[in-house]
Amino acid sequence: MSRTILVVAEAKGGVLRQVSYEAIGAARTAAGDGGTVAAVIMGSDVTRLAGDLAVYGADCIYSVDHSALTHYHPEAYFAALQAVMQEVRPDGVFFGHTAWGKDLAPQLAAALGAGQISDVISMDTDDSGELLFTRPIYAGKAMEKKKFMSTPWIVTIRPNNIPPLAAEAGRTAPVTAVAYPEPPLAAVIREVVQNTAGKMDLSEAKVIVSGGRGVRSAEGFKPLEELADVLGGAVGASRGACDAAYCDYALQIGQTGKVVTPELYIACGISGAIQHLAGMSQSRVIIAINKDPEAPIFQVADYGIVGDLFEVVPLLTEQFKQA
Ligand code: FAD
Repeated sequence: MSRTILVVAEAKGGVLRQVSYEAIGAARTAAGDGGTVAAVIMGSDVTRLAGDLAVYGADCIYSVDHSALTHYHPEAYFAALQAVMQEVRPDGVFFGHTAWGKDLAPQLAAALGAGQISDVISMDTDDSGELLFTRPIYAGKAMEKKKFMSTPWIVTIRPNNIPPLAAEAGRTAPVTAVAYPEPPLAAVIREVVQNTAGKMDLSEAKVIVSGGRGVRSAEGFKPLEELADVLGGAVGASRGACDAAYCDYALQIGQTGKVVTPELYIACGISGAIQHLAGMSQSRVIIAINKDPEAPIFQVADYGIVGDLFEVVPLLTEQFKQA
């Protein structure tokens, strides 16, 4: 079956987010043989990013490029997206399961009366060729497979789970400029104050070194930061560490924090409460460092180190520096 699928690409700091490429990968599967993968990019000075979307597999690109879209604004972006929907009329739409996606996707689903499946981590097909979408439920303790009964449908995908297509240097695609509809806005954004805690976006980091109450102080996070730097990763935290004011809540991972799926998650001085596991148990490889051999985190860890994190973490940093 061939379908037309629209990917809502996302740019941050002037570059496309990795999840946009992953969404194109998902869209290619959903489009089927002979199907079309369209991508939309919205923002200010974003048309120049269209080439990257083509290189990663988009067949055609729609750009809504306007100064009113400099900062993410729910009403402005939704109006821009609706203008593109009129042109493309897709069978399905993919968003990243990001702050943007979580905001825009349900608006679109409600406006279309469409079904939405959120936080999808993989896709396959049933015997009749219908698309099946898999998503974690019950804080990651179980998986459910869902399918849509009608079109158009809306899906958000969890970053770091669906592989992007291989980049094809020199691949091009037609770019259509869509006029920003200039809707009346109930609010305007004057300024965006960036939270500077954490150098890297946790949801897209390939490596996360995370600290818990066992880190004991803000100063105690320093060795974790050094390890993360050596590995090219980001620093995360348990709520225990955030509540104790050792770090900013922007770093919190778990049920009420960020959900992450890095290739490597190193949990340092984290007990492994169910609410923390909800945010990281889908990580590809988990290493736990804890001085309590009975700590529940060891039940989900692929590798466990029973020991004092203040001895183990600097040793790991030294070893990785030499590697
Ligand atoms: P602790 O449970 O105190 O564990 C500290 C660990 O450090 C211990 O296992 C100890 O053995 C080890 N340790 C101590 N010193 C060292 C050392 N020197 N070297 C090595 N190991 C050492 N929690 C989250 O993380 N994320 C969430 O999103 C979240 N949401 C929640 C939502 C709700 C509604 C509720 C009720 C709770 C939530 N929590 C969440 C809190 C959660 O239940 C735990 O309280 C919290 O995860 C514990 O943090 P922790 O593991 O850092 O601390």
